[in-house]
Amino acid sequence: MAMSCSSSVRLRLNLAPSCRRRAAPTNLQLLRRVGVAASPLRLRAARATEGAARQPFDHVPRAVEEVGEDEEQRRRSLKIAVVGFGNYGQFLTRTLVRQGHTVLAHSRSDHSAAAAELGAFFFADPHDLCECHPDVVLLVTSILSAEAVLRSLPVHRLRRDTLFADVLSVKEFPRNLLLSALPEEFDIICTHPMFGPESARDGWGGLPFVFDKVRVGDCPARRARAEAFLGIFAREGCRMVEMSCAEHDVHAAETQFLTHTVGRILAMLELLSTPINTKGYETLLRLVDNTCSDSFDLYNGLFMYNNNSTELLSRLEWAMDSVKKKLFDGLHDVLRRQLFEGSPPMDSATAAGSSLDDAPIDGDPHSDNDEEESE
Ligand code: NAP
Repeated sequence: MAMSCSSSVRLRLNLAPSCRRRAAPTNLQLLRRVGVAASPLRLRAARATEGAARQPFDHVPRAVEEVGEDEEQRRRSLKIAVVGFGNYGQFLTRTLVRQGHTVLAHSRSDHSAAAAELGAFFFADPHDLCECHPDVVLLVTSILSAEAVLRSLPVHRLRRDTLFADVLSVKEFPRNLLLSALPEEFDIICTHPMFGPESARDGWGGLPFVFDKVRVGDCPARRARAEAFLGIFAREGCRMVEMSCAEHDVHAAETQFLTHTVGRILAMLELLSTPINTKGYETLLRLVDNTCSDSFDLYNGLFMYNNNSTELLSRLEWAMDSVKKKLFDGLHDVLRRQLFEGSPPMDSATAAGSSLDDAPIDGDPHSDNDEEESE
């Protein structure tokens, strides 16, 4: 169905000149291609009724041999508006396009060349984007800009049953934002693919994908669309973890915020590779690379928009102070013995057997052998 996209006069598809040269499609052809994906929701609705007993993510219906893989792929394809076409938006788009979905991109900056390169359609104007009636609007903007970006979208131009999803690295904040800013008829799925261009360089297989179906309308077509969207990640082999947004944020403070904080602290030390790197040290260098290649906005968002991050930062400071205290207490003991009890100065043998080496650091039963284990 050519739907509202047929108002091609108003609709601007900002394809890079390189793309126009290569494919040389007319605007009408491009719009038709965008429109092609508008019908699958109806098809999926019919299919969902047939396959009501199927398990979630089991997207290969028994009839697949009968209809052929191409036909099955066409049925499953979604028209997805990626809002926020920076580093991560482009990373996701690569896979979305490969899976046969139509990607409509929108961003603050002009990413039309990157979109064309990836096989997506770039819309500078959010009105034009919404008038294409995507099945899914996927929010991939920075955490800090999410509210402003969401509120700048003319959601009244979308179909009333549109599915909104997000991939922000914090979850309670977008959940509350989407619930408060979107019309009640819209479906909402909050997600966090817990990987990025660095960690998923070799594919998404086995990597965790957290999701919370915050609101999915109780009708076959909506359920089928939600499953088709989640199926994108399941098909890539992600470990699908259904979890409330609140629970995600508790865990993410410990896993993600801690990891990024340690990476950024180490980056301040400007560590360099040496001729005698241990395995443990190589791990630290990799941690710096993995965390500092993400934008500071992302890291700042993990802190500002996760309620649990402040406490984690305090615990980290406490842990650093505890380790230092253990070292300095031991040092003072040695000095005091020398000053007041006339014991001989500590030689290397004494140092090797000193209480410093023997005592485990408070709360860290593995500290004795850390160096050996890490090498
Ligand atoms: P980011 O710095 O968090 O976000 C960059 C994106 O935000 C770009 O699309 C940028 O638009 C947009 N943006 C920034 N400030 C803006 C503003 N004031 N107004 C409008 N748009 C603004 O980096 P990212 O790595 O691309 O992450 C995007 C989202 O994915 C974040 O919410 C992040 O938490 C999530 N995520 C990232 C990873 C990862 O590994 N990187 C993993 C999972 C989830 P322009 O480029 O058009 O300027």
